Amino acid sequence: MLIKDVEAFTVSVPAPNPAYRWREGLRGSGGGEVGILRIRTDDGVCGVASAAKPGSGAVLRGLVDRVLRDELVGQDATRREWLWERLWNIDRTEYLPIHLLGVVDTALWDLAGRAAGVPVWQLLGGYRTAIPAYASTVTFTSVEEYLDVADQCLELGYPAIKLHAWGDPVADARLSLALREHVGPDVPLMFDGSAGFDLPDALYVGRALSEAGYLWYEEPIREYSITSYKWLAERVDVPLNVAETVPGAHMSAADYLASGCATYLRTSAGLRGGITGAMRIAHLADAFRIRAEVHGNTMANRHLCMAIPNTTYYESLVTSNPVRREWGIDGSGVVSAPTDPGIGLAPGPDYPAELQEFIHAV
Ligand SMILES: [Mg+2]
Repeated sequence: MLIKDVEAFTVSVPAPNPAYRWREGLRGSGGGEVGILRIRTDDGVCGVASAAKPGSGAVLRGLVDRVLRDELVGQDATRREWLWERLWNIDRTEYLPIHLLGVVDTALWDLAGRAAGVPVWQLLGGYRTAIPAYASTVTFTSVEEYLDVADQCLELGYPAIKLHAWGDPVADARLSLALREHVGPDVPLMFDGSAGFDLPDALYVGRALSEAGYLWYEEPIREYSITSYKWLAERVDVPLNVAETVPGAHMSAADYLASGCATYLRTSAGLRGGITGAMRIAHLADAFRIRAEVHGNTMANRHLCMAIPNTTYYESLVTSNPVRREWGIDGSGVVSAPTDPGIGLAPGPDYPAELQEFIHAV
């Protein structure tokens, strides 16, 4: 199954309506050109993956034209491990954007699933067929609005809630305590700092989360200093969930584990080197009986959630008030395994006809 063609397609995605925002200092929701990679083989099979970050289209297209087509055409599409290592060698001099590192690998998994006629989660071994989804909030305006959103999430069936708050340690700590008070002791709660704090502020928030019995405390600090995470873990009781945005897949995750700071590791197809990188992280964590929690609500990540034994939830982004439940999640907050061969596409009327054609062409 030799690769005969590698192409990039860009599609303009409008900004979400209503718009939403993240913590102070981060850019909010926005539209832009998204890149789609298509790999075709000489026996008529095709695999597709998106670099879903708005603005990634031009970068992906440039990379395909300058490097990837030349590297991939003529290679055996079934040798995902070899091609995964090849991409890391290319990264040594190309400094690939982290959200593009896994695109080739994810497209090759899609291709393998389509060739076999089965969804990727089954190719990966198929651990489960459904998993609970937690409601992962964007940043809302006030404590009152968060509590209202939390009520709606629970009403819609979500069994657990993760906060993305303002990035103000005092306000964030107050919100975290208020939410625990509001929902009672039995609802699992998580907090995502989106790397908004330094160590003193991370400690301040972490102590509130410890007091309120949060399940995990995610990415409070930029992930360049493992030592700062180690010091944080030594000073708070709340378990840390780390290594979402560092490059290096399982290689950097290993050092987080070795430092002793991690009770949970982040993994994802989008930021951790595709399906292959994400699974390497999951197995690495499992060796230490640590959970690998999947970051982000993409189709590729749904497959990972069904394939990784040591994971708890699917992350479902709640971007609006009134709250809308993400497609495919039932009234008990459970998402079922994808059924299309390969990765498959989320349903929706938003895909332009030419994109559909591009994705399904062989
Ligand atoms: Mg996160």
